[in-house]
Amino acid sequence: MKITYKNVRKIRLILLSLGTAVLLAGLLLPGSHPDEPGLFPLIAAFSGITLVLAGAVIYFIYWRCPHCKVLFKTRYFAFSPQPAPVLCEYCGQKLEE
Ligand SMILES: [Zn+2]
Repeated sequence: MKITYKNVRKIRLILLSLGTAVLLAGLLLPGSHPDEPGLFPLIAAFSGITLVLAGAVIYFIYWRCPHCKVLFKTRYFAFSPQPAPVLCEYCGQKLEE
């Protein structure tokens, strides 16, 4: 699948939700031993943070005008998908949704 500005919001949402879920699972699930947190929560926390960061990085790479490559306006930490612009406000080119 090709990542474009049209689907990158969905990809970010998936990675953000997945990463948060994995991170929470690592924090909430008990470790193998009551005195030691064990390896699982650490791995889960690390994987969760990695997924969230990957989502953010992919978002900033692809959330751009395909014509002039300027980054679109960004709502940070938004779980709801933000609408794609109809016109690029920098170069004025029409964008297809
Ligand atoms: Zn543009």
